[in-house]
Amino acid sequence: MPSPRDRGTAAPAVLDASLALSFANTVACPECRVGDALASPRSFRAWLQAAHGLESDPLPRKALEDLRKFREELREILGARARNAQIPPSALRSLNEAARVSPVVPQLVGTGKDLRWAWSDPGPLALRWTGAVARSAVLLLGGGEPRKLKRCGMSTCLHFLLARSRSQRWCSSTGCGNRARVARHYRRTHDTGD
Ligand SMILES: [Zn+2]
Ligand SMILES: [Zn+2]
Repeated sequence: MPSPRDRGTAAPAVLDASLALSFANTVACPECRVGDALASPRSFRAWLQAAHGLESDPLPRKALEDLRKFREELREILGARARNAQIPPSALRSLNEAARVSPVVPQLVGTGKDLRWAWSDPGPLALRWTGAVARSAVLLLGGGEPRKLKRCGMSTCLHFLLARSRSQRWCSSTGCGNRARVARHYRRTHDTGD
C-alpha cells in the first residue's frame, strides 16, 4: 500500500477520489501483512490519522460493522470496474444512496492559524464516513480520474491501485512490486530449464 508519508503533508482527502480507494484498501491483506483497519474503533482512528491526516471521534462498534458492510459493496463495485465487468445495479443504487443521504458538507471553521474544515452536520458518524467515501467513489468512477483502477498484480494481494501508467501493476513498489522482482530473480537463477 502506498505509504501515507508519500503524500506529503496530508490535506483532507475527503473531497477527492483518493478516499474511496484507500478506504477500499483498508481490508486485511495477508500478502502485504496488514490487518483490517476497520477491526476496532482504535484502528479506524489510527488509519484516518495516518492515511488522511483526519481526526474523528471514536466510532461505536456497530457503526464499524456498517462501515465494513459498505466497504464490501464498494470493493464489489471497484472489482467489477477493474475487470471491466458490469457493476451490479443494486450495488450502484446503494452507493448513490449513501452519497445522497449522508450529511457530509464541509465547512470552514476557525479564523486565524487554526483555520480548518469540519463537517456541517454532526449526524451519525458512520453515516458521515459512508457518505464521504461514497461521494469520493462517485468522483473516482465517474470521471475526472484519468488513472486506471486495477487490482494489484500479485494474485494473493487484496489491494486496488490507480495506475499512473499502463505498465504499473503493483499496489506498492516497495511491497508487492519488490516481492515480485525477488521472485522473478529467484526463478531466473534457480530455473535449470528442464
Ligand atoms: Zn496487499
Ligand atoms: Zn499488492
